[in-house]
Amino acid sequence: MSNHKSQIFSPHFVYECLSLMEQFPKAKILAGGTDLLVRLKDEMNQHDIIDISHLKELKGISIADDKIKISALTTFSELIENEIIAENADVLVQAAEIIGSSQIRNRGTIGGNIANASPAGDSIPPLFVLEAEIETSGKNGTRIIPIKDFFKGPGRTILKKCEIISSVIIPKNKDYRGAFVRLGQRKSLAISKVSLAALFKVEDERITETRIALGAVAPTVIRASKTEKFLIGKKLNDETISEAEKIICDEVSPISDIRSIAEYRKEMCGELLEQAITRQLF
Ligand SMILES: Cc1cc2nc3c(=O)[nH]c(=O)nc-3n(C[C@H](O)[C@H](O)[C@H](O)COP(=O)(O)OP(=O)(O)OC[C@H]3O[C@@H](n4cnc5c(N)ncnc54)[C@H](O)[C@@H]3O)c2cc1C
Repeated sequence: MSNHKSQIFSPHFVYECLSLMEQFPKAKILAGGTDLLVRLKDEMNQHDIIDISHLKELKGISIADDKIKISALTTFSELIENEIIAENADVLVQAAEIIGSSQIRNRGTIGGNIANASPAGDSIPPLFVLEAEIETSGKNGTRIIPIKDFFKGPGRTILKKCEIISSVIIPKNKDYRGAFVRLGQRKSLAISKVSLAALFKVEDERITETRIALGAVAPTVIRASKTEKFLIGKKLNDETISEAEKIICDEVSPISDIRSIAEYRKEMCGELLEQAITRQLF
């Protein structure tokens, strides 16, 4: 039995949080708690906790020039209700709407979803196609990191010790149509077996630009760059869609795990791409 007497800290300022992190390097950061509390379960009393949920600096959504700043403590429910996000990042709203249950959406934060670094985290593929940047706060100031460089593997990010995610920055994005689709054990309260986010720009029935990201088929979310390249300039018809489906299945190498087998995941990438295209473009 451990004799450790755990403490819970509730800083009100980021600088206070960072100095607590330095003082208690093993302390766990708690935002909405929907991942952390499940993970710690009966071990709660063995860990010091830094509850960041009172940090006003990490709350709110704002827009300046051509950038939208989503603070780390923004919950999925807040994302769904926000007009700026609805106008500029509908693909993120579509993902937020199917995360967990209403209780989870009311507590779970975008910062927690990113920091958790699950390849199946549902906000991450939309953030990849939106070409988001992650803003961090640490002892040496802030850093802005493109999301494609943020993850090292399942549960691992490039966050340093004594550094937290402070916000997610996305460009204004009114020209694109977006779709988020996922496959889980069931429609709600299930972790994605495969997920796909896509943005399309279409002129005269041809795709002029596209970005496609896949979740849960690799150690981190990935862009389907071969499929993107193939689709650009193509007229949308059944032949294009079926060729794109083959390309996307070929460009992924998923693994089998408790949630699904590799072959099924591969096949489902094609199926989800078809759903995303037809949902948005027809
Ligand atoms: C029943 C249930 C259903 C769920 N369904 C889904 C789903 O459909 N899709 C999905 O993607 N997820 C799902 N989740 C997982 C979870 O809700 C999300 O990952 C959520 O976004 C986590 O946010 P949080 O604020 O609760 O994080 P917390 O649990 O507070 O923290 C998660 C991790 O991130 C760290 N952290 C949190 N905020 C920061 C920060 N600002 N800077 C640095 N580190 C930080 C914490 O230390 C911890 O390691 C589900 C969870 C449950 C319990």
